[in-house]
Amino acid sequence: MTSSTVQNVTILGATGSIGRSTLDVIARHPDAYRLHAVTAYRSREALFDICRRFAPAQAVIGTREDAGWLRRQLDDAGLERIEVLHGDPALLEVSRAVEVDVVMAAIVGAAGLMPTLAAVEAGKRVLLANKEALVMSGGLFMDAVSRHDATLLPIDSEHNAIYQCLPMQQRGGLSRQGVARLLLTASGGPFREWSLADLESVTPAQACAHPNWSMGQKISVDSATLMNKGLELIEACWLFGAAPEQVEVVVHPQSIVHSMVGYADGSVIAQMGNPDMRTPIAYGLAWPARIDAGVAPLDLFAVSRLDFEAPDEARFPCLRLAREAMAAGGTAPASLNAANEVAVQAFLDGRLSFLGIARLVESTLETIEVRAADSLDVILCEDAQARRVAETLLHQRSF
Ligand code: NAD
Ligand code: MG
Repeated sequence: MTSSTVQNVTILGATGSIGRSTLDVIARHPDAYRLHAVTAYRSREALFDICRRFAPAQAVIGTREDAGWLRRQLDDAGLERIEVLHGDPALLEVSRAVEVDVVMAAIVGAAGLMPTLAAVEAGKRVLLANKEALVMSGGLFMDAVSRHDATLLPIDSEHNAIYQCLPMQQRGGLSRQGVARLLLTASGGPFREWSLADLESVTPAQACAHPNWSMGQKISVDSATLMNKGLELIEACWLFGAAPEQVEVVVHPQSIVHSMVGYADGSVIAQMGNPDMRTPIAYGLAWPARIDAGVAPLDLFAVSRLDFEAPDEARFPCLRLAREAMAAGGTAPASLNAANEVAVQAFLDGRLSFLGIARLVESTLETIEVRAADSLDVILCEDAQARRVAETLLHQRSF
């Protein structure tokens, strides 16, 4: 590639699991991608290491104090030219900077919404890992993508797979292209075969040890409760304009088929590969071209078999809760997401049992009303309310 085609990249959440995988792919293609900005919340040492390795133009950290620390470390290392910023306004600044072509949205949770939307509104190529942003703001988010002519590429492996299996990037609606259904695969998480009684005593360490994927804590817990698949169902509806009943969840324990598209003529097209997030990340970076992602070729003889089974919503009610929230519409998905973030944190802190996560989310959703999600203010207000309600319920009752 010539220097004129070098893409400037901002990574929101550079110190996380997706952030680090993105850095790995970028490092393999120094002539094609240049790091413009990296952000982290609290991990200042990890951010400093990234700055030393990649020398981006800007680095953003959560607090003023950590920014001061990072400034001193960079000066001592002879990296005075890296600008250090801090706080939420800086996240918006590095998302919409004119020099930036590509924004990897890899902050976890609702905290990623505003910076991801800023990238969309600046018309960037947005690589969307932060599914919570889309779950919260669905229609508004997708409207902003088309209004600002942003290029939205799904990084969640399932949605990336569906994107790859759809013709012409789903222009014209699913049914006009003969798409009958989207088959969203799920590994089933570490507790796929556990009984309800055994699920009562799951510890955070057990929930964070996923059999096939190495991920951040929050998404690991979501994968174990299947709330991750619920959020992904909502994500799929928005990304591809699908109705909830067009999205079928298929448990596939090997995580080799990353998802499928079923057509009216009976064809089912699947995307396969090793479970390694560098594949969808490389796809998003290079689309419509293909580049080396550093991922080992798929050895089908070593995999040897692919199994598929139906999800069990009695043991994993989060899937049902997400489907119901999507059907309720309006601010319900934002409330679901907020209640789940509170519940997962409480579980990680030892304040809530594993099965209590779904119970707390369900009780929260029963307590608050659904409003029309017609502005960002309403969505943020409902997000805050669901958090307050969930915290209050957590103190009042045992779940
Ligand atoms: P992670 O916890 O490993 O990393 C999160 C990143 O966000 C870190 O860089 C952290 O510093 C930053 N961050 C956290 N809270 C923040 C805040 N309040 N303000 C600003 N920055 C903040 O998470 P991850 O596993 O990399 O996941 C990131 C996103 O990608 C999530 O939305 C997740 O659902 C999605 N995703 C992850 C995977 C995966 O394999 N890890 C797969 C698909 C989708
Ligand atoms: Mg996924």
